[in-house]
Amino acid sequence: MTKLEEFIIHRIQETGPISIATYMQECLLHPNLGFYNQKDVLGPDGSFITSPEISQMFGEILGLCLAQYWIDLNRPDRFALVEFGPGKATLMLDILRAGSSVKGFIEAAEIFLVESSSKLRSEQKTKLSKFNVNWIDDDLLIPKIPTLFIANEFFDALPVNQYQRKNDLWYEIQVGLKNNQLTLGLSHRPTTHPELEGRFSESMNGDIVEISNDAIRITKSIGKIINNQGGCALIIDYGDWHSLGSTLQALKSHKFKNIFHKPGKVDLTCHVDFEALAKNSGCAYSRLTTQGVFLERLGISDRANQLLKNSQPKNHKSIISAHRRLTHPDEMGTLFKVLGLYARNEYSPAGLLN
Ligand code: SAH
Repeated sequence: MTKLEEFIIHRIQETGPISIATYMQECLLHPNLGFYNQKDVLGPDGSFITSPEISQMFGEILGLCLAQYWIDLNRPDRFALVEFGPGKATLMLDILRAGSSVKGFIEAAEIFLVESSSKLRSEQKTKLSKFNVNWIDDDLLIPKIPTLFIANEFFDALPVNQYQRKNDLWYEIQVGLKNNQLTLGLSHRPTTHPELEGRFSESMNGDIVEISNDAIRITKSIGKIINNQGGCALIIDYGDWHSLGSTLQALKSHKFKNIFHKPGKVDLTCHVDFEALAKNSGCAYSRLTTQGVFLERLGISDRANQLLKNSQPKNHKSIISAHRRLTHPDEMGTLFKVLGLYARNEYSPAGLLN
């Protein structure tokens, strides 16, 4: 039994069952026992590997997409570049390297990172030591200047509440105890949530609906800034435009596990409900496309060919396989989506127009 499991069991014994969101929150973000404060969670030796860790091409393309957006905004002499959940800072470094080929872009950028893990924050500080970087909370206290947001595999890590429909009522799915072991159960009393009201027409008895209050709160703040100050958000994650059913999953060393397997040592994630993000942002426009199509439109194959030309034959296999992993429908190309949010009277981020 992990220390965190003992802690959660004790908590439930003292105060009763907890929501799935609280369980996820403890498992992922507990200050010293949570998953994101463990050693090496991201990358080939960790629990999962993300697109920026697969290849520099991913961050370079996003960097050029953001730089193009800055050009479309008429090159403001100050703008905020905000990244949520920057992990090992690989994506930000690739964005800044590619963006430095666009004159004036880096000089105009004020960098803000939203990161809850103190361990990852210190890794980010070391990696980005050449830049002036600010760490902020998700209340997004930033200057009133145009703002470009980026988030890769951040929203899937945010806690969700799950509700199950029983006839005309919703009950919350909770984590409780059975013979002193963690188990799932339903709340005794029915519950309500503004987001559940519209879900009767599309659900059946027994269906489960997931709602992330954190995602709603954060996209509301993003949308307010975009609408008031100009800018856009690029949100990349796995999921679909609309979600129905339980998508909660546990992942350890690239393998699926039970959600109660070794709490704090295993990653817990949910598929992202992009419609909920778009709707709650209040932005005039939202565009969703698959990661594969987005990267292809912005020239990832040309970039891969260029890297092949400039590299030694022993590296060719890894460049070709990285290109495939990022874009192929059997890999991350279709499951992963790119959501662009932007205000009226502004351009769509490059790569997202249908
Ligand atoms: N974007 C990176 C890392 C993805 S992992 C990449 O693509 O490689 C998720 C990241 O979000 C980690 O940095 C994690 O510590 C951070 N994170 C998770 N929940 C968070 C929260 N509620 N607030 C701030 N950061 C969070």
